[in-house]
Amino acid sequence: MKTISKIGVFTSGGDSPGMNAAIRAATRTALFKGIEVTGIRYGYQGMIDSDFVDLNRTSVSNIIQRGGTILKCARCMDFMKPEGRKIAYDNIAKEGIDGLVAIGGDGTFKGASIFSQEYGIPIAGVPGTIDNDLSGTDETIGYDTALNTALDAIDKIRDTADAHERLFIVEVMGRDAGFIALETGIAGGAELTLMPETMTRTKEIKEALDNILANKKRSTLIVVAEGDESGGAIELSNILKPDYAKYDMRVCVLGHIQRGGNPTARDRVLASRLGAAAVNALYDGHENVMVGVVNNNIKITPLKSGWSKKKSIQQEILDLVRTLK
Ligand code: ATP
Repeated sequence: MKTISKIGVFTSGGDSPGMNAAIRAATRTALFKGIEVTGIRYGYQGMIDSDFVDLNRTSVSNIIQRGGTILKCARCMDFMKPEGRKIAYDNIAKEGIDGLVAIGGDGTFKGASIFSQEYGIPIAGVPGTIDNDLSGTDETIGYDTALNTALDAIDKIRDTADAHERLFIVEVMGRDAGFIALETGIAGGAELTLMPETMTRTKEIKEALDNILANKKRSTLIVVAEGDESGGAIELSNILKPDYAKYDMRVCVLGHIQRGGNPTARDRVLASRLGAAAVNALYDGHENVMVGVVNNNIKITPLKSGWSKKKSIQQEILDLVRTLK
C-alpha cells in the first residue's frame, strides 16, 4: 500500500454548488491526517500548466457557503491526448503530489480513470455535478441546490401563469439526464414533464395537453429538460404553437442560474462528507475509486462504474408524474 504524503485537489468540468465545501473538507481532512494539500487550479488544464497553490486550514476558510469553486473549473482538450497527460503527470510528480482528489462529473472521472491506469497515481473521485447522473451515489453535489433554484423559478412562473391563465413551457438543465426535470416537475406540480430518458411523441404531448386544457385548468406548466428529444422549450413551443394559437403560450429557459448560488444545507453536508471520504479512501489505500452516499452510508465504488453505468430513473417516480399531473 502506497503512503500518501501530498494530495492534489481539483475541480473540473462544469461547476456545481457545493464544490467549495468539498475542497474545504478534503483539505481539512488531509491536514488532520498529516497529509499536505496542493490545490490545482482549472482542473486538468492546471496540471498541464503547473497552476498549483498550497492549501492550508485558512485558505479554505469562509468558502463552505459559496457557490462556484475557488479552484476554478475548465474543460481541457489537451488532457484527452496521451502527450497532454504525460505533461500533467510530470508536473504533478515534480510537485510531489502522490494522490488526487478529483471533484467533477462523468467526463472528469473518465479522464481520471485513464490517468490513474496510465501512471498508477491513486485517485478518488468526488461526484460534483448538478445533473445527478452518476451511478454509485444517490445524489451528486450541487443537485439539490440546482433543483431548489429551478423550483423557486417555477413557483414564480406558476404565479404569473395562473394570474394570466397562460401555458408556460419551462426548460431546465439536463443534456443527457432528466433528474432536474423530473423532480422539479413533481415538486412544481407540472402538468407535463419531458426528459431524455422517456420518449414522448408529439402526438402524445398534444393528447395530454388537450386533456389538460379540456379540464379548464387555470394555468398549465410544461417542464422540459434541455436534452429532451423535442429539442427543448423553444423548439417545443414552435411545434405546439400552430395548434394552440388561442392559448397565450410563453417560454422560459432557466439556463445558468441553476448552476450558481449558495449551496443548500443538504449539498454542504453531502460535499463535506464526500470530500472527507475521498481523502479517507486514499489514506486507506484505495486507488481508482469514486466515493458516494448510498442509503445514507458512504460507499466506495470503482471510478469507472460512476460514468460507465447509466443511472436510471425509478419507474415508481415516473409513474407518479403521470398520476399527479
Ligand atoms: P459536467 O457533468 O458538469 O459536464 P464533467 O466532468 O462531465 O462535468 P467534461 O467537460 O465532460 O465535464 O469533462 C471534464 C474534463 O475531463 C474534460 O475537459 C477533459 O479534460 C477530461 N476528460 C473527459 N473525458 C476524457 C477522456 N475520455 N480522456 C481524457 N480526459 C477526459
